[in-house]
Amino acid sequence: MERQDCIFCKIAAGQIPSIKIFENEYVLAFLDIGPISDGHTLVIPKRHYERLDQTEPKVMAEIAKVLPALSAAVSRAMNAEGYNVLCNNGSVAGQVVEHVHFHIIPRHPDDGVFNRWPSYQYPEDKAGQIGEKIKQNISL
Ligand code: AMP
Ligand code: ZN
Repeated sequence: MERQDCIFCKIAAGQIPSIKIFENEYVLAFLDIGPISDGHTLVIPKRHYERLDQTEPKVMAEIAKVLPALSAAVSRAMNAEGYNVLCNNGSVAGQVVEHVHFHIIPRHPDDGVFNRWPSYQYPEDKAGQIGEKIKQNISL
């Protein structure tokens, strides 16, 4: 399913150029045009889904089949000690392109990428209440 105005649908259809690193029937991986580290790669389903939670499970399974090997290839090729896999969902979470995608971001010591993780502590009882609320919202 292709969306006319979607840049990643156009990349999947070969209508605009990209540096492709992997492709099969369901999945495409290509270099991010605005990398935050060398080798920054995007992995997308070829069909258009906006968010992770809207993506069909069978398509997610196809992504899951290849994401580990692609992550390993990207980080090996870049001599990276590690990598982040990131999926932004919604503009509030930093999603700019509304076609679900996984960033593979190679990481090196002291690279300054994501150097702040704004962690805090839950006050008493709050974690338990939040855990319950999330459990009640799971629909599988
Ligand atoms: P996000 O903020 O998670 O939606 O990330 C969108 C990513 O898509 C950004 O990192 C952009 O640099 C990247 N991007 C946008 N247009 C292109 C394009 N034509 N080819 C490759 N990457 C792109
Ligand atoms: Zn799309």
